[in-house]
This record gives sequence, C-alpha cells and structure tokens, in this order.
Amino acid sequence: MGHTYKNCQSCGIPLHKDPQGGGTERDGTKSLKYCSYCYENGEFKGGNLTLKEFSEISRKGMVEGGHNKSFAWLFSRPFMLGHLERWKNK
Ligand SMILES: [Zn+2]
Repeated sequence: MGHTYKNCQSCGIPLHKDPQGGGTERDGTKSLKYCSYCYENGEFKGGNLTLKEFSEISRKGMVEGGHNKSFAWLFSRPFMLGHLERWKNK
C-alpha cells in the first residue's frame, strides 16, 4: 500500500468531497493523491502552472462554484497551498 492522502496534493480539497473520488492516471486507475478537478489521465489540468497562477485559477473556480469571495481568497492563498506535494519543490 502506498501513502494515502486526505486532501488533494494540488488544490487541498478533501478527496472524499471529490464526486469522482479522485483524478485518473494515464492507465485509468484512480489517483490517490490528486482530485479530479486537478488531475486527469496522468496530467495536471491547465498544464505546468506556477503556484501563483494556480492560486488565481483556484480562487476564480471557487467563486464560480458559489463560494464566498473571502473564503475563496483565503483558501487559494499560496501559503495555504505551499505545503502540498505538487508545490513543495517550487
Ligand atoms: Zn485538486
């Protein structure tokens, strides 16, 4: 068994809240690390983004998804995302 994650290691949402139950690898298996919003067919959606770019997209996505603007602002701050695996080495 590999390590399992409670939260998507790209955007930080709880993986159990992902309606797809996780992103997909290239071979079609479920990713245990990234959610379906971030990761599909073994690749990150939106390509090779910087944390700053991702933060902005994430904030807009949350507002479009009906979240309160200040909530979206807080939860997409780079300091909220910087501990996640995708961004650790950036
Ligand atoms: Zn994600």
